Amino acid sequence: MPTPRIEIHLGKIIHNAKILKKLYNSRGIDIVGVTKAVCGNPIIANALISSGIKILADSRISNIKKMRNANVKAQFLLLRTPLLSQVSEVVKYADISLNSEILVINQLSTLAIELNITHKIILMVELGDLREGVLPTDLAYTVKKILKLKGVELVGIGTNLACFGGVKPDERNMGDLSAIAESIEDKFKLPLKFISGGNSANYDWFISTKSVQRINNIRLGESIYLGCETLHRNPIPGLFTDAFTLIAEVIESKTKPSMPYGEICQDASGNTPEFQDQGPIRRAILGIGLQDVVVSGLTSLIDIDILGASSDHLVVHTKKTALKVGKELAFQLNYAALLSAMTSPYVIKKMLPNR
Ligand SMILES: *Cc1c(COP(=O)(O)O)cnc(C)c1O
Repeated sequence: MPTPRIEIHLGKIIHNAKILKKLYNSRGIDIVGVTKAVCGNPIIANALISSGIKILADSRISNIKKMRNANVKAQFLLLRTPLLSQVSEVVKYADISLNSEILVINQLSTLAIELNITHKIILMVELGDLREGVLPTDLAYTVKKILKLKGVELVGIGTNLACFGGVKPDERNMGDLSAIAESIEDKFKLPLKFISGGNSANYDWFISTKSVQRINNIRLGESIYLGCETLHRNPIPGLFTDAFTLIAEVIESKTKPSMPYGEICQDASGNTPEFQDQGPIRRAILGIGLQDVVVSGLTSLIDIDILGASSDHLVVHTKKTALKVGKELAFQLNYAALLSAMTSPYVIKKMLPNR
């Protein structure tokens, strides 16, 4: 079979999505399925839909467009707050978008009026992670401005933690979001349909909190695909952590020195590499590299060490195993590796039948 390829166990993804949906639903939280890590792959999107998920979210409008064109039956939410240069595509392809800038919301309103549609807005609130979001002190002012606009409907508020600053979702910030939701509802007599508390990093908070308070929505990517929470990357009980496997092929296998010889300058990435002399070692080259995947996110399923990579080659120390040319090796992927492998046009996407 051709390599490099990523093997995708749809049955495991569906299983994970169903378990997570049931878990979060049991305390009144609905889940949105996030497709950005799988590059908006329509087959995987349909797998999420078959698990009972109704809203799919992606950070790229091009991925949303791809899923719509493939006739994936869902409501689509744009995760990354819209680029001002892209607002016309946003109202055309996304039903809902996360937002934090009134200038952008104004434009969404203008374009939605032109198309004679209503575009739904979830306003993001900054609660400490310092990526997107309106500061809580500016919130009432922003809401007031949004409510004056036609063509857009404020359907909720949300926050995003543990992405940039690594801030943990906890009693305090989730309590703050709930309190903010209530104050907006009171002040503007506006029921908020979505109070969207975060992402896969909210798992620990969710299972330990006495009350989820007003949080009724969560946006999940990584925990569906990789079966883990994302604060410590611990597996979530009952989920598969091996829904994706990356396969690469040996193109050279020889015993060679462990130390390069000659004068050492920069390598392909501009670093000056350092090596330890272990004498001659079993080395193999795999036909996969930086154009295919974030190599640092790979874990081999057999006992070998990854020594390094350039654009098209992965060099490994195969230790006790003598690998033949043509032999396939399997790797587990972390989030960065999954995202890059699914995005790379060089990596074949191979769907495995449902189990
Ligand atoms: C990527 C993203 C998510 C999903 O995060 P996971 O850790 O994959 O669950 C949720 N919300 C926003 C705004 C995102 O950008």
